[in-house]
Amino acid sequence: MRVVVASGKGGTGKTLVAANLAAVVACLCDVVLVDCDVEEPNLHLFFPSEKKLLPVLADVPVFDTVRCDHCGECARTCQYGAIVVLSQKNLFFPEMCHGCGGCEIVCPQGAITMGKREVGRIEFSRPRAGLTLVSGVLNEREVAAPRVIREALRYAAGHPLVICDAPPGTACPLVETLEGADFCILVTEPTPFGLHDLSLAAGVAGVLGVPAGVVINRSIGEDEIIWRFCRSENIPVLWTIPFEKRIAELANEGKVLTDEIPEMKELFLRLFAEVRHRGEAGL
Ligand code: SF4
Ligand code: SF4
Repeated sequence: MRVVVASGKGGTGKTLVAANLAAVVACLCDVVLVDCDVEEPNLHLFFPSEKKLLPVLADVPVFDTVRCDHCGECARTCQYGAIVVLSQKNLFFPEMCHGCGGCEIVCPQGAITMGKREVGRIEFSRPRAGLTLVSGVLNEREVAAPRVIREALRYAAGHPLVICDAPPGTACPLVETLEGADFCILVTEPTPFGLHDLSLAAGVAGVLGVPAGVVINRSIGEDEIIWRFCRSENIPVLWTIPFEKRIAELANEGKVLTDEIPEMKELFLRLFAEVRHRGEAGL
C-alpha cells in the first residue's frame, strides 16, 4: 500500500504527519518513507542518520559541432525552447531540456547524440529499526522535480508499505507523487487560506481517483470552515491535531512527537489504522 501525505501549500504540517506516521508504523512493520518534496526535502531532519547517495541522471543532447550545419531543425522541434541556433553556433539551455530526444531524431546531419547529466540525487538511510528513508533531492536551479520524484518512488516500488511526503502545491510534482497511490492524507489548517489550498489538492486527488481524507492541524476548536467543505465534498475528516505550544516546540526542534508524547503514539496508530482500512477498501 502507498499512502501520500499532501497539502495544497507548504507549512501546514504534512511533513510532521508523514514523519510521525512512519515512526509509529515502523514499530509494527517495515515501512519505506519517501521524501518527494525534492526542492526542499527535510524529513532527514527528523531522522538524522548516515546516508548513501545515488545520482539522478537526465537525458540531454550532445552536439557534434563539426557535423552541424546550423540548419535550425532541432531548435524548431524543441517545444521547450532549450536550443537556439545561430549562424555560427548553437546555444543549449540544459535546465529547460526535458530529455525527450526529439532533436536527435530530426537532425538531418546526425549531429546530435543523447548524453546524461546529473539533476539531483537520491539519499538512502536506515535511521531506526523498521524504517527506511528515501529522499529525493533536486539540484539547485534545476526544474526536473518530477524526474527526481519518479526515481525516488522507483526505489520504493514493490515494498508492501510506502509513505510519501508530497511536495507542496498542486502542479506536476504533486501529480507525479500522487498518481497510483492507494490513499491521500490531506493536511490542512482551519483558515480561509488553508481551505483554498485544501480544495485544490483535494481536486487533484479526485481527478487521479485517489481516495482522500483530511487531517486538520493547529486546531483551536474553530474548524467549521473545513468540516463544511469536507461534508460537501464527502471527504472524511480523519483527525484533528490541537494547536499546542509543546507540539510546535518539539516539531521545531526536529523531534518525533510519538517518541516524546505517549498519547501521540496512540493517536498516530489510530490514524494509520483508519488510513489502512480506507486505502485497502478504496474508500
Ligand atoms: S538539427 Fe542538427 S544540423 Fe541542424 S542545427 Fe541542429 S544540430 Fe545542427
Ligand atoms: S531532448 Fe527534447 S527537450 Fe531536450 S533539447 Fe532536445 S528536443 Fe528539446
